[in-house]
Parts: sequence; C-alpha cells; structure tokens
Amino acid sequence: MTTAATPLGSSETTMKLQARGLAKIYGPTVALDHVDLDVREGELLTLLGPSGSGKTTLLQLIAGLADPSAGQVMIDGTDQTFAPVNKRGIGVVFQNYALFPHMTVAENVAFPLKMRGMAAADIAPKVEKVLDTVGLGHAHERFPTQLSGGQQQRVALARCLVYDPSIILMDEPLGALDAKLREVMQIEIKRIHRETGATIIFVTHDQEEALALSDRICLMSDGKIAQIDTPRKIYAEPNSLFVADFIGQSTILKGHVEGAGLQTPLGLIAHGRDGLTEGAAGALVIRPEDIRLGEGDFEGRVIETVFAGSDLRVILEAAGCEITTRAPASFDPAIGEMIRFGWADGAARYVPDDAAHG
Ligand code: ADP
Repeated sequence: MTTAATPLGSSETTMKLQARGLAKIYGPTVALDHVDLDVREGELLTLLGPSGSGKTTLLQLIAGLADPSAGQVMIDGTDQTFAPVNKRGIGVVFQNYALFPHMTVAENVAFPLKMRGMAAADIAPKVEKVLDTVGLGHAHERFPTQLSGGQQQRVALARCLVYDPSIILMDEPLGALDAKLREVMQIEIKRIHRETGATIIFVTHDQEEALALSDRICLMSDGKIAQIDTPRKIYAEPNSLFVADFIGQSTILKGHVEGAGLQTPLGLIAHGRDGLTEGAAGALVIRPEDIRLGEGDFEGRVIETVFAGSDLRVILEAAGCEITTRAPASFDPAIGEMIRFGWADGAARYVPDDAAHG
C-alpha cells in the first residue's frame, strides 16, 4: 500500500511516529542528543543500549511524560510534541505492572474503557476478547496477588491493548521475570504483536531479548542512535566497534590500517575494504560461529569452556587477544590445550575504532 508522503516523510511506508532533532538536557547532562527516529506502522522496534544511554528519556518524550529541550514528535503525521499524555493515544506497559490490587483482572482491564466513558455492555466483550488474546481467558475474577509475575504482566498488556492505542510503549516489561519466563513472554509478545498488528516500542538493555523480539533494533549510546537496523543486519553488519561489541559475543582484534590489512596482535590481516586511511585505528570483528577450530593460520590456548547444552563455547587466548568460538557439544578440550583456529575469507568484518564509546 502506498500512502501520500507526510510533510516530514520520505519513505513509502506509513510512519506511525517521527522524532526530529529530539533532545533532552538536564543541566550539564545531555540525556538525549538531537535524535531523529522513524517508527513504522505495525512494527516492533526495540530501544536497546547500556544503562544511561537515553532509552527511558526517549520513551518519556514520546509518551509525553517529559517535555523536550528541543525537537519535535509527530504521531500519525501530526505534531504532538507538547500534547498531554492522555491525548496522544499511547499505551505504556511498565516493568512493575502497576495493576490495581483491589480490582479483579477483568476490572483492571476494563478500567481504561470505563475512564473513557464506554457503556458496560460494550466493555464486557472487549475485555473478554483481549484476555483471550493474552492467554488469560480463565482468570477474569482473580486478583493480581493471585497471579504469577508473568500473568500480571499479561494483565498489564491486556489493559493496554484493550483501548487500542496508536502506539504501545513497553519499558523493560520483562525485567522482573526469571530467565525461563522471560523467554515464554518474549514468544507471547511476538504472537500478540503479530495478531494485533500493534505498533510497539520496547525498551530493553538485553541484547538477546532485542535480537529475539524486534522487527528493528535502535541501539543507543550516549544519547544518540548508534545504529538502527533489523536484528540480522545489526548482527551481521555492525557499523562501529561499539555496536559490534554490544551485539553478540564476538572476537575483536584491534589494530591499525596498513595497506590492504589491519596490523593486529595476530599479525597483518586483510580488512577487505577500499578507501581506508593509512594508520587509522580499526578493529576486525569475527562472530563465534565463523571461527573454525582445529585448522587455520593461528594457534590459541584454551582458557575457558562454557557448556550450553546444544553447543560448547570455547574461549582461546592468542597473542593477548581473547578469541570466542563455538564448537559442537561433543567437543571437550582441556584448559591449557593448544588449538589451531582460523576463519573463512570475509568473515572478519572491519569496523572503525570508535574508542570514545569505550
Ligand atoms: P537509560 O534509560 O538508557 O538507562 P536514561 O534515559 O534514563 O538512560 O538517562 C540518560 C542520561 O540522562 C543519564 O546520564 C541519566 O543520568 C540522565 N538523566 C535521566 N533523567 C534525568 C533527570 N531527571 N535528571 C538528571 N539527569 C537525568
């Protein structure tokens, strides 16, 4: 479907939300540094980044929970920069659920509809439908204290979905759940997203969660967007050392450009790029699954092995560098054993060394 371009839009995809030059400054701290962000209709976008990178600030400015120091927020093509929270058609799901303890599940979910003045006869079927969607069709009459953490989070999500908000913001919604339940809820959120077609902006500091859930990941650093791409692209083609380091568990070989190679502690290794400045600081990033063990140009000493059921993570030390590899679970090397390793041409990806990000 093609739509007319919005005043700010340049893409054919419908933009649900557009932030332009959005900034928030607290005294000497630039919490959000003039960010441009487009969120597409129906996508699940995660804001990912280390603590203090500006994720919550960006979410607050989108929701209207704080006013920006500069910039603009457009929702459905309309300027909403200073619109009050309750006029933006945005639903927010927080980590701590914020359910009403004295109300049943059904009453909690009905609450936003009552607030909007909907007739009781219209509310009941909506509540029923949304509780079925989140898998709580059996729990209408229970109270929040009678539910598990995962179930409470489903109620919070249902209470948001029920009034069909234009955008759903989720601020670390799974942060309080244990690892197993988190995975279950990630799959649930994916299913609910697919079934409802909702536009969801999801904040997390967990890169695995972002890779698992997102249509696109917006990786933030120091109040700026470091990279925004699909999980596959951001994993395979990080645009900086910060991104490569934050996403996945890679081997990073730092060095300096010397002709067609990068001079690293492991020697001169081809960088496969044109136009790099001689002497520039850079790094080669190699994903664990691209490293072959038992053959290759290099040799490393096994310093750690981590059994993960389906495979074995083997960490080698070579010339002072840590080499992270993945081997079949049947492989069982001894600590201290020397192992040859290498990788196929093209598996080492060059990124500039943006040391400013640490
Ligand atoms: P994140 O959600 O990625 O952890 P935040 O958006 O909460 O990051 O914070 C970004 C930066 O802004 C941090 O340096 C934080 O200390 C600062 N900050 C956030 N809120 C405030 C505030 N109300 N007052 C002062 N500084 C703040």
